[in-house]
Amino acid sequence: MSEDRPPDHKHPVSGYETTLSGWGRHPVVRSRVEPAFDRQTLKQSLQAEGQLIAFGQGRSYGDSALSDRVADMRPLDRMLSFDASDGLLVCEAGVLLADVIGTFLPRGWFLRVTPGTKYTTIGGAIAADVHGKNHHKAGCFGTWVKWIDLMLADGSVVRCSTGQETELFHATCGGMGLTGIIIQAGILLQPVPSASIRQTTVKTRDLAGTFEAFETHHDAPYSVAWIDCISGGSNLGRSLIMLGDFAGPGDAAGESGQTETRRAPSQRKRTIDYTPPGQGVRIPDAFPGSLLNRHTISLFNALYYRKAPRGQSSGNVGLDSFFYPLDRLRNWNRIYGRSGMMQYQFILPKETSFNGMEEILAEITKSRMGSFLAVLKLYGPENDHYLSFPMEGYSLALDFKIQNGLQDLFDRLDRLVIKYNGRVYLAKDARMSRRMFDRGYPRADRFRKLRKALGLDKKFQSMQSLRLGL
Ligand SMILES: Cc1cc2nc3c(=O)[nH]c(=O)nc-3n(C[C@H](O)[C@H](O)[C@H](O)COP(=O)(O)OP(=O)(O)OC[C@H]3O[C@@H](n4cnc5c(N)ncnc54)[C@H](O)[C@@H]3O)c2cc1C
Repeated sequence: MSEDRPPDHKHPVSGYETTLSGWGRHPVVRSRVEPAFDRQTLKQSLQAEGQLIAFGQGRSYGDSALSDRVADMRPLDRMLSFDASDGLLVCEAGVLLADVIGTFLPRGWFLRVTPGTKYTTIGGAIAADVHGKNHHKAGCFGTWVKWIDLMLADGSVVRCSTGQETELFHATCGGMGLTGIIIQAGILLQPVPSASIRQTTVKTRDLAGTFEAFETHHDAPYSVAWIDCISGGSNLGRSLIMLGDFAGPGDAAGESGQTETRRAPSQRKRTIDYTPPGQGVRIPDAFPGSLLNRHTISLFNALYYRKAPRGQSSGNVGLDSFFYPLDRLRNWNRIYGRSGMMQYQFILPKETSFNGMEEILAEITKSRMGSFLAVLKLYGPENDHYLSFPMEGYSLALDFKIQNGLQDLFDRLDRLVIKYNGRVYLAKDARMSRRMFDRGYPRADRFRKLRKALGLDKKFQSMQSLRLGL
């Protein structure tokens, strides 16, 4: 969320007007924010005239959580119960992943799936059916959601799961808030041995080497690549691939305060010392976006690539460094300047991934607009959720400063993504056309029909859903 929004959501106000944006700081809209203190206030918001959409922590990049009127879900932030026999946590939708980690990692539990920021709400993670560095092994966030309590347009609450109100469940995981408001959910956590990750970095020289390394290390529980999207020619697609697994308690000599506490065997109850790192440097609101240009980005890419040793290197790193490197720089989105940025994240099926990535990367390097944050990931099979982004293949995510020519570049990328049978991620989008969306998401019409049948289209709308005709 933009910092324009009053940060203290605990004040019992019935609603206020403010400017809102997603993480990309574009678009910025004037909106009425109605805090969801409890089911009753939420119901009142729904009964009032007009449409609205749930707003979590504003970590989606574009306009998925933007509308004239939003329900601020952060006040619903209680963890309600935990069952250590199967790791089932029941919590309200406004709970942050950071709070789950802070509470449960010391007890030896961690999220089954986590996106690259922990400042995401549980509701936002379900609504975008987020994925992490282990999609090829663990699927999406929704794979580990046992049930969801969902408030519909008339204020009634329905429990949905894979065995109950199944359609609603598959439409809600990945449904971007358009099937109702997630009030609370039961999510499964995984037991972990430490708060350290054994990380192996593989340096590759080109795109073929990058794909080969991903396939060779397919069994690594976590994998992700930083890819150089500036260098073309024989260096096109050169990368640093980070592979990871939880370090065992014995070899968890990671960053300070991140090792398992040693105890006598009789006392051992999976207790892990974990101190979350601070949010570090704060980027000023007026940071000059001009500092980020083709020259500084090229320099960053070259230095970052050169810094890593040739071949493979290994070591232990703290869990936050591995999963959430960007969270260390508070408001890092401001480095793009006031006009903001857009992320373009697309995925291609495995059969077309190599050729598609090659052509798309060449288009990006040619444009000379490439970002310094470009992430390539391997994905496992698609799930049954109607609008979930992942499919078996590879995805690439790139941040771009908003600048002249960017829309033209995105249009060219769209054409290539269609050519290679891919799709663009809704949680990162602020400009996709309905045509592009329909091509990429074959279950879009099923989703539309369900919304219509339940009268959800009359109440739940975001700027994105209006643009996409949902
Ligand atoms: C640095 C960074 C890294 C990221 N890395 C990844 C990644 O690795 N993988 C990935 O998949 N995503 C990633 N994301 C995207 C992010 O995880 C998703 O956009 C997520 O949905 C944001 O959650 P939020 O709570 O901020 O929700 P918001 O951004 O506020 O909302 C996102 C959507 O969820 C809906 N929503 C929110 N709360 C509810 C609710 N209670 N009920 C119903 N609908 C609701 C909103 O209406 C909206 O459509 C990243 C984002 C950032 C900024």
